Amino acid sequence: MTSAPPGYSRPTIVGPVDGAAEKSIAATCPGSVVAPWVGDAPATHPYWGPHYRVATGWATDPEVRFKGSSGGAVTALALHALARGLVDRVVHVTASAADPASNAIAVSTSARDVIAGAGSRYVSSSPLVDIERVLADGGRAAFIGKPCDVSALRLLAQSDARVDAHVPLMLAFFCAGIPSRSAVGRVLGELRVSENELAAFRYRGDGWPGKARAVTHDGRISEMTYAQSWGAHLSKEVQFRCKICPDAVGGVADIACADAWYGGETGYPRFEEMDGRSLIVSRTARGEALLVDSEEKGDLILEGLDIGQIELMQPGQARRKRLVRGRVAALKACLQPRPQMTGLLVEVASRRARPVEQIRNFLGSVRRSMERRP
Ligand SMILES: Cc1cc2nc3c(=O)[nH]c(=O)nc-3n(C[C@H](O)[C@H](O)[C@H](O)COP(=O)(O)OP(=O)(O)OC[C@H]3O[C@@H](n4cnc5c(N)ncnc54)[C@H](O)[C@@H]3O)c2cc1C
Repeated sequence: MTSAPPGYSRPTIVGPVDGAAEKSIAATCPGSVVAPWVGDAPATHPYWGPHYRVATGWATDPEVRFKGSSGGAVTALALHALARGLVDRVVHVTASAADPASNAIAVSTSARDVIAGAGSRYVSSSPLVDIERVLADGGRAAFIGKPCDVSALRLLAQSDARVDAHVPLMLAFFCAGIPSRSAVGRVLGELRVSENELAAFRYRGDGWPGKARAVTHDGRISEMTYAQSWGAHLSKEVQFRCKICPDAVGGVADIACADAWYGGETGYPRFEEMDGRSLIVSRTARGEALLVDSEEKGDLILEGLDIGQIELMQPGQARRKRLVRGRVAALKACLQPRPQMTGLLVEVASRRARPVEQIRNFLGSVRRSMERRP
């Protein structure tokens, strides 16, 4: 995977690709196919996906709750699995040493290293680039990734038995899409920190939502609120593919977490600083068992949530899911490539869109398709 302007991750051909590899790529690449919501969950919601249980919660360890993006639930679950011996390592992303605003992959065996990766990092990540090594090494790894990463891994499991044998736990988070690296550059510009000066960078975490925070080599700290960094810069440069994502809620993960924002009654969540709270959805029997055990052993505090409440916390995700069908129809009309997305209730979700909303998005996507043509 390499970075292509304006700073999105793209696959590059670096050598001959044999027939088997090409077949495997075609069957798993999240750019071209999205794993359907087939699993053992007792219920499936057209926006929020398969679910055993919907809850809000947070890590009982105050450090994990504080460092985590929302309530530190993803990290707490991974740590619980590690401590109980369900897995022997965790595959996750962390800040790149060479460029602290970009991502690198970490394979961690200690709580300290897993906690170091806590917090959302709003820039491209490729946590599967070393999956061959993870599978070849054997053992049992927990995998943390974006919904599309987990989708690719589930699809790979259909042709590679090592996935189920060696990756018994897949955790995801709701994902609004990947901003470009150049948008991150604009955040740094507003923070008056040059790329050369940058020693460390957090997008958020250290509180909920926590601030974007740049630290320079000479110890200068510069911060920006989440509303500014995400709202004014990063969200404006989310790549198009993410805007037609039919499963941005991690529907094929064992457990998916998100921000359990307050205040959605006004139509938009509030982003005031407070103690972190994650939205937690267990999606498989294995995920539910982990949730039960994490609560019983005191690693996670959980409070039940009616599934109807999620829309107040995640209005953007609900909107996107109901508009995916119209946007993809526009690509079809313009003879543009589009991912396969069957078994994800895209059609059912689209019936919840107002016709005017649907038409506006269809036309907007047609216009965008025409503009992108050479
Ligand atoms: C690009 C992006 C978009 C998001 N969009 C939404 C959204 O629309 N709605 C919403 O509620 N939440 C969204 N989130 C997720 C949200 O910010 C929190 O991750 C979620 O609330 C879980 O918090 P937590 O405290 O339980 O997780 P934590 O305990 O903080 O753990 C987060 C885990 O995610 C991993 N991670 C962080 N960034 C990346 C990345 N780029 N690629 C792969 N893994 C990563 C970390 O390594 C860590 O293991 C998004 C996150 C990202 C990175």
